[in-house]
Amino acid sequence: MKLEIGESPAGAPSSVAERIEGMRESIAAEARALGRDPRGIVLVGVSKKQSVERVREALEAGLTDLGENYLQEARDKFAALPAVRKHFIGHIQTNKAKAIVETFDVVQSIDRLDAGVAIARAQAKAGKRVRALIQVNVSPSERFGVRADEAPGLARRLREDEGLEVDGVMAIGPLSPDPRVVREAFAAAAAAFAAVGGTTLSLGMSGDWREALAAGSTMLRLGTALFGARA
Ligand SMILES: *Cc1c(COP(=O)(O)O)cnc(C)c1O
Repeated sequence: MKLEIGESPAGAPSSVAERIEGMRESIAAEARALGRDPRGIVLVGVSKKQSVERVREALEAGLTDLGENYLQEARDKFAALPAVRKHFIGHIQTNKAKAIVETFDVVQSIDRLDAGVAIARAQAKAGKRVRALIQVNVSPSERFGVRADEAPGLARRLREDEGLEVDGVMAIGPLSPDPRVVREAFAAAAAAFAAVGGTTLSLGMSGDWREALAAGSTMLRLGTALFGARA
């Protein structure tokens, strides 16, 4: 059978709504197989480099959370979309802390003390509270993130001295074809989460969400699996 451009092979999801529905079912099945309640897993749609049309379709299909890496792109996109919970998952530049706090509800990428201090002080000034996660580096291919053993000390310092609501840990998995390498990295992130405390372990992307669920992830950040290939 010859496919027209833009057409999907039979059985493959062709729309964002179908992809979301399919992923929800797969995640729920995987969670139940692990003895976990699927309702304990938050789905964040990573909408970087995706069109406003695709993102709007996702929100209409019931997606409640969006993640963005780039501040200006996020602001432009959010302005054209209905209300949604907004997660910043990109690298924090301290001179952008004010705009990050104004734009987002959750800041997942606190990867050093001065980034956390900047976010805490910006939210105090803005009269708004964000939820924060400590970004832990568990992968040699990742540039950012604190060492797992540094996460509890950083969390304590930001909570006690800066009044930041640190609600857990975020990590990006290694780009390894070996599931054992991924599992080991995710176990380190889960241990850091246990030591930091809070409610959220943000772990798992389109290529490694099953391993993430097995490691105890409570929040999956899915881009291409929900929206298709990025522009
Ligand atoms: C891009 C990105 C994602 C989503 O990646 P996919 O592989 O498209 O699911 C998740 N988390 C972070 C931090 C990202 O930068």
